[in-house]
Amino acid sequence: MKYHIWTEGCQMNVADSQRVASALEHLGYSVTPKPEEADVIVLNTCVVRQSAEDKAYGRLNSLRPLKEKNPHLVINLMGCLVGIRNNDALRKRFPFVDVFSPPSDPSPLVAFLTQSEVREMEESATATRYAYMDGDLVLPEAERGKLVSAHIPVVYGCSHACTYCIIPYRRGIERSRPPEDILAEARALVRQGVKEITLLGQIVDRYGKDNPAYPTLAGLLIRLSEIEGLERIRFLTSHPNWMTDELLDAVASLPKVMPHIEVPAQAGDDTVLENMKRGYTAEQYRALIARIRERIPGVSIATDIIVGFPGETEEQFMNTYRLLEDLRLDVAHLARYSPRPGTVSARRMKDDVPEEEKMRRFRMLEELQERIVGEINARYLGENVPVLFEEKVKQRWKGRTPTNKLVFVESEEDLRGQIREVKITWTGPWSMIGSLKK
Ligand code: SAM
Repeated sequence: MKYHIWTEGCQMNVADSQRVASALEHLGYSVTPKPEEADVIVLNTCVVRQSAEDKAYGRLNSLRPLKEKNPHLVINLMGCLVGIRNNDALRKRFPFVDVFSPPSDPSPLVAFLTQSEVREMEESATATRYAYMDGDLVLPEAERGKLVSAHIPVVYGCSHACTYCIIPYRRGIERSRPPEDILAEARALVRQGVKEITLLGQIVDRYGKDNPAYPTLAGLLIRLSEIEGLERIRFLTSHPNWMTDELLDAVASLPKVMPHIEVPAQAGDDTVLENMKRGYTAEQYRALIARIRERIPGVSIATDIIVGFPGETEEQFMNTYRLLEDLRLDVAHLARYSPRPGTVSARRMKDDVPEEEKMRRFRMLEELQERIVGEINARYLGENVPVLFEEKVKQRWKGRTPTNKLVFVESEEDLRGQIREVKITWTGPWSMIGSLKK
């Protein structure tokens, strides 16, 4: 992969271009003097004189045909022409520019180039969690030793029987694990260096409901909180109908339990919800989100949505769209409905939303969420947040905020397993960049 940088203006711009070049080389790009050979083109601009500004516009216009020929080409406009504020007029005038960066700041370009990777990383992390939840994945002890963040299944199986879901057929009825086993496993993991555990269950907030001798999930969180050396506790996935105030208050009051709730809506339309046999209405889901936000200040909330469920009309889909638009949740795991063998929906309902239509609905929600999450995350800009660092990925340390936002930091220190204050310097819908507070 190749990059080409065109620099105009003062020594400062020359130095800035060097920083960009070095950041790109970190990512595996090498320089080319020929723009037509490049995968990434950076125009580092100057507006000190009108002639310099005109030259920048001329150069920019000359790139348009290159972009038309190669839509994968990434064009980055940088420097004084962009300035330090977001420049909407420039965005409108040059829609073929992918990234606008203020002077001296390579991070928007780096973030743009790594976004698809970050996204893949997040999607694979979600898939891993689901595999754990289903009891399919158990890491060997040796590998667990390197982990900062580990998963512990606490409820096996599921007895809810949502019409689309294959889990109850494959994993059997709901069984909570004995609290002593969970506590012992958590202690063992902490002894191996784990700092964060995530409790897993298909309906994790039903923990203990199948055995009167067991505590509730809130009770389990209290006991886990007492483990010395364990820094952070999370749990997922919750079903809306079992989110008690006791549980929400435990999250709010236990410092080790992170303010992040994963509670799937699946749809925002009452008929679709009824056909899915989810057991609540859209209005009840909205009320739940309000209650979670009221009881846990600063909480982040994730949901799951299925588009194209059998019989889902445009109007019903738009109810789901409006639900997400109104609730402004931090994460939406989106899926296109697929009939799973043996499930009620596969046996009794016609998979009648065409694939292209499912894709269109999926994309609409994806775009909506990207905008909403971009706006939510932008509020972190300039804030200091405690980040638990997990591993180094391509020169940058990867960690998470209490609200489960992904943060990258460049540092030569070994940050694995440390919780450090980070000042956020760039935000996007999938991740943020920051620097360690000294
Ligand atoms: N048990 C949790 C629940 O449904 O509340 C989540 C676990 S499930 C493995 C993860 C997600 O996959 C579900 O929330 C749902 O959005 C999606 N999913 C399940 N069955 C599906 C199907 N037949 N077609 C499309 N998506 C499906």
